[in-house]
Amino acid sequence: MTDLYNYDLLLKRVRAAIPENVATRDRFEVPSVEVLHEGKNTILRNFMDIVKKIDRDPSHLYKYLMRELGTAGNIQGDRLILKGRVSPSLIQRRIDNYIKTYVICYECGSPDTELRKEGRIEMLVCKACGAMRPVHARIDVRMGRIVLEEGKVYEIEITDLSRDGDGIGRYGEYTIYVPGARKGEKVKVKILKVKKNVAFGRKVN
Ligand SMILES: [Zn+2]
Repeated sequence: MTDLYNYDLLLKRVRAAIPENVATRDRFEVPSVEVLHEGKNTILRNFMDIVKKIDRDPSHLYKYLMRELGTAGNIQGDRLILKGRVSPSLIQRRIDNYIKTYVICYECGSPDTELRKEGRIEMLVCKACGAMRPVHARIDVRMGRIVLEEGKVYEIEITDLSRDGDGIGRYGEYTIYVPGARKGEKVKVKILKVKKNVAFGRKVN
């Protein structure tokens, strides 16, 4: 008898065969909100824990919450103090939305992203897969891609010219044709027509 089939030994071999990063990979779990009410104020006790986990600027999340909750407040140490009584579930929903909009990559789902300004447009850039999208772009969650909407105005850069001399820019997976726009120009474009991945727009000012 050898101890080849000894259970402990087998287990050790299996563990040794698993790459380190799979066995110990840190899962992306943002702590749930810890809220308490003090007099007329609402206190988000673990504001800074959340900020650290999602790796965003505290003042960015702070401004977002003030705007979305329609209240005033301030950061005190690790805590966020809100004026008035705000329900914990509402704060949780707003933070979940923030994470969807400003943290998670729409392509690969990684939270390993950063915010970057391109002119006046705030972009979410993924360090894992390289995907890039304007943070306020409408995302089709099912399709996992940006949706361009007719009648809306977008800011794009003209990176090419068509054979007819129309400016061509990109937005997500779309190619947008803009008559009268010059190469290298940053323009605001009203989308007139979208057909699959091609769109036609008009310069607006
Ligand atoms: Zn990604």
